[in-house]
Amino acid sequence: MSKRIPLSIVTPERIAWEGDVDALVVPAHEGQLGILPGHAPLLAQLRAGTMIIRTHGEDPRLLAVSGGFVEVFNGRVSIFAETAELADEIDAERARQAAERAKAQLKHHHQDKLDLQAQAALERALARLRASEAVSRRRSPRPPTA
Ligand code: ATP
Repeated sequence: MSKRIPLSIVTPERIAWEGDVDALVVPAHEGQLGILPGHAPLLAQLRAGTMIIRTHGEDPRLLAVSGGFVEVFNGRVSIFAETAELADEIDAERARQAAERAKAQLKHHHQDKLDLQAQAALERALARLRASEAVSRRRSPRPPTA
């Protein structure tokens, strides 16, 4: 059997997820970063985005994360995220409202600091919506068209 990667995803509040996985994709600053067993040691910064965990024989798991770091060391992967939610835990309506608030702030404020905060809030909300919507689509695939 092929080697698996011990993975832990922790936030300042909790252990969001931990287990052994076959592969994962994380939203690094430089772009989506794929990690397979045997990956070289690494420390990279995360941005707000969706993360995918693949384990043989199971549906891929999706999470939304919002910044932090990913470390690969001694074959283990540790994600230290500011926030992390499994797609199932995401309250999509809350994320929609957060996105609307952030968009309204970006429209009406032109102060640098507020803009940066609103931009970060928008990115967190959009990452949550993407993860949540991807899982909803998987659960209720569109019926075939005639
Ligand atoms: P909001 O304005 O809705 O609070 P936010 O982006 O400011 O959104 P964060 O500060 O990133 O919220 O997160 C605060 C806490 O709430 C974290 O524990 C995070 O995991 C959780 N959280 C935020 N939004 C959601 C959501 N839509 N569904 C589930 N948990 C959420």
